Amino acid sequence: MSDDTRKQTEIHAADQIRKHQRNLNTKELSAAILSHDRAALAQAITIVESTQSDHTQLAKEIVQACLPFAGKSLRIGITGVPGVGKSTFIDVFGSYLISLGKKIAVLAIDPSSPLSKGSILGDKTRMDQLAAEPNAFIRPSPSSETLGGVARKTRETIILCEAAGFDVILIETVGVGQSETAVHSMTDFFLLLMLAGAGDQLQGIKRGIMEMCDAMLITKADGENVKPANFAKAEYTSALHLFPAKENGWTPRVEVCSALEKRGLTEAWQMISDYEKWMTERGLISIKRHQQDVYWMHQTIREKLISDFYQSPENKKRISEIESDLIAGKITAFEAARLIVG
Ligand code: GDP
Repeated sequence: MSDDTRKQTEIHAADQIRKHQRNLNTKELSAAILSHDRAALAQAITIVESTQSDHTQLAKEIVQACLPFAGKSLRIGITGVPGVGKSTFIDVFGSYLISLGKKIAVLAIDPSSPLSKGSILGDKTRMDQLAAEPNAFIRPSPSSETLGGVARKTRETIILCEAAGFDVILIETVGVGQSETAVHSMTDFFLLLMLAGAGDQLQGIKRGIMEMCDAMLITKADGENVKPANFAKAEYTSALHLFPAKENGWTPRVEVCSALEKRGLTEAWQMISDYEKWMTERGLISIKRHQQDVYWMHQTIREKLISDFYQSPENKKRISEIESDLIAGKITAFEAARLIVG
């Protein structure tokens, strides 16, 4: 055997071993997830979130293996401005749902702070009651540079959590940037937490987010805040009526709650359950999920095309040349774009 042939044979053997180990790992990990092993779930999510190139294929295989067992949870998106009481609410509400026999996974999307790995859920002690529950699984936001990256990772994590037997998935996001749209597009129910405040009630939260929500919850309805909270409930209820009716026929509702005093939890769950019943009876949950899948497919295509386009060395060169002409006033912006993309 020549040296070259021996080397080739060795490389082939090493590849085979790696492949075998990888298959074993994938199978074992997926089987462990399906048997509701939380450590395996955490490990698989780490692989999904990894940017290491040899983890990409592994992640794909694990997600694929879990996919047939996913889809059985109720996915709830929760948003609201920082300080509105999201983590306190999730802590108390999640524990309440566990007392009803549910298994709760809490995920987060916070693309605004990739360096700090997400300001929300970053500190697990913020949900210490829930963190101590064996039937709860809390995972902070994946750190990633793009919202698209964070969204993909979270969507895959939802699949893994569902395969691991979690039947309610709460996905938290901050009420800033584009992350609400992302969370809205991966959940069945979108809950907006609001503060009762003096002055302009609609201040601080974009109209578009109010339009997206399936329900609103006025937080911190305790002590002196009970009256303003009930007032806000009436105000928002009429404000929501001004929006065009939702295609699915559901009318968003408003409730008040106090995470501090553990009040309003039953009402919040009732609202969500009524919505689930409404949607399920009409076959609308699966339609909504299919639409979301298609949306994410197009989002992903768009992101890939744009990133490939800008990374191509020829395009980079061409763009910089045309930019010079543009700055020199020789052509218009539209002509410049036309010259670049044809
Ligand atoms: P987040 O930034 O939206 O996650 O808000 P947090 O859950 O961290 O809450 C912000 C602040 O509001 C904290 O100081 C909480 O103790 C307080 N808070 C949260 N929920 C309630 C509540 O139901 N009642 C009262 N009075 N304070 C609350």
